[in-house]
Amino acid sequence: MTAPASWAIRTELTPTAGRKPRPKDAELVFGRVFTDHMAIADWTEDAGWTDPRVVPYGNFSLDPASAVFHYGQEIFDGMKAFRAVDGRVQIFRADRHCRRLAEGAARLCMPAVDPALTLALVRGLVGTDRDWVPSAPETSLYLRPTLIATEPFLGVRPSKRYIFFIIASPVGAYHGAGFSPARIWIEDRYVRAAPGGLGAVKAGANYVASLMAAEEAKKRGYDQVLWTDAVEHKHLEEVGTMNLCAVIGEELITPALDGTILGGVTRDSVLTLARAWGIKATERSIAIDELLAAQRDGSLREVFGCGTAAVITPVGELGWKGENLIVNGGKPGELARRLFTAITDIQYGRAPDTHGWMTAV
Ligand SMILES: *Cc1c(COP(=O)(O)O)cnc(C)c1O
Repeated sequence: MTAPASWAIRTELTPTAGRKPRPKDAELVFGRVFTDHMAIADWTEDAGWTDPRVVPYGNFSLDPASAVFHYGQEIFDGMKAFRAVDGRVQIFRADRHCRRLAEGAARLCMPAVDPALTLALVRGLVGTDRDWVPSAPETSLYLRPTLIATEPFLGVRPSKRYIFFIIASPVGAYHGAGFSPARIWIEDRYVRAAPGGLGAVKAGANYVASLMAAEEAKKRGYDQVLWTDAVEHKHLEEVGTMNLCAVIGEELITPALDGTILGGVTRDSVLTLARAWGIKATERSIAIDELLAAQRDGSLREVFGCGTAAVITPVGELGWKGENLIVNGGKPGELARRLFTAITDIQYGRAPDTHGWMTAV
């Protein structure tokens, strides 16, 4: 199937009477309310991608035998549209998110969604629901593109039919109560992703694999899990559903993309900015022993997570085999703050977009 040079999106508007009340910006949380529309495209073996459209938000009618319900053939992404201080609406690094979804689909034996189609649907949806992009500080419109297998067949093989859809949810300020550091449990029993597995793609399957460890960590009083490698539980991988960064001495370190780690767009932005500021930023493996030694000799300055939802989450405390390690006196680090400010300033148009990261809608 050859992709058209540009995708025309059909739009079917929700009648005024069917529109939902919009929550006040101050009442927004994460992922609970959705806008009036959604974007959809269908894929079949014969026709490829067809009928890309923006339609009223609503339920799907799916055959209970649809492959996604049985074997989890599903991949998603997450990106945000922001209302800049001058009122413009723009999406952060849309090209990267669209490309990641297309590349990840292959690992799950799904057809890639042409990045140009994803972008056209994102623009169509955000343009239609522009009024839903909130404007209070640190709020945004979260976009969730999702690809699911819909062939009604219980045989174990890749589906021959798919639905691609995008929903949008206005979300509140993540760091509402201040830039408060998280308490993190370093996991040495459960595994999120193993070499050769799905760790490098945004598959729903990775998330269900992580739930039990996260629940147990919460019972112990921690906010999230720091995943260690599946083989020896000696190297640090990701923190919850964020990429991990540590500052040891003058070096910013993040685990290399070795196949078990998701290549975050925020991670890439952090590396790009740090390097532009002349900071040594290294992608390599970090052993727990190195982190412990750095904490003991005082060279461990910061630990933080990075991802679309929170941008940067400082880590104030690490639990490891019953011991509690305090990072930077339990306070957010200087680089974490600087990165958070720099990235959000670009997102909200408070600083010039020197890296070409924003796509106007
Ligand atoms: C989405 C995700 C991240 C962060 O990626 P961003 O593109 O920065 O949002 C990190 N780790 C995992 C496991 C993820 O699913």
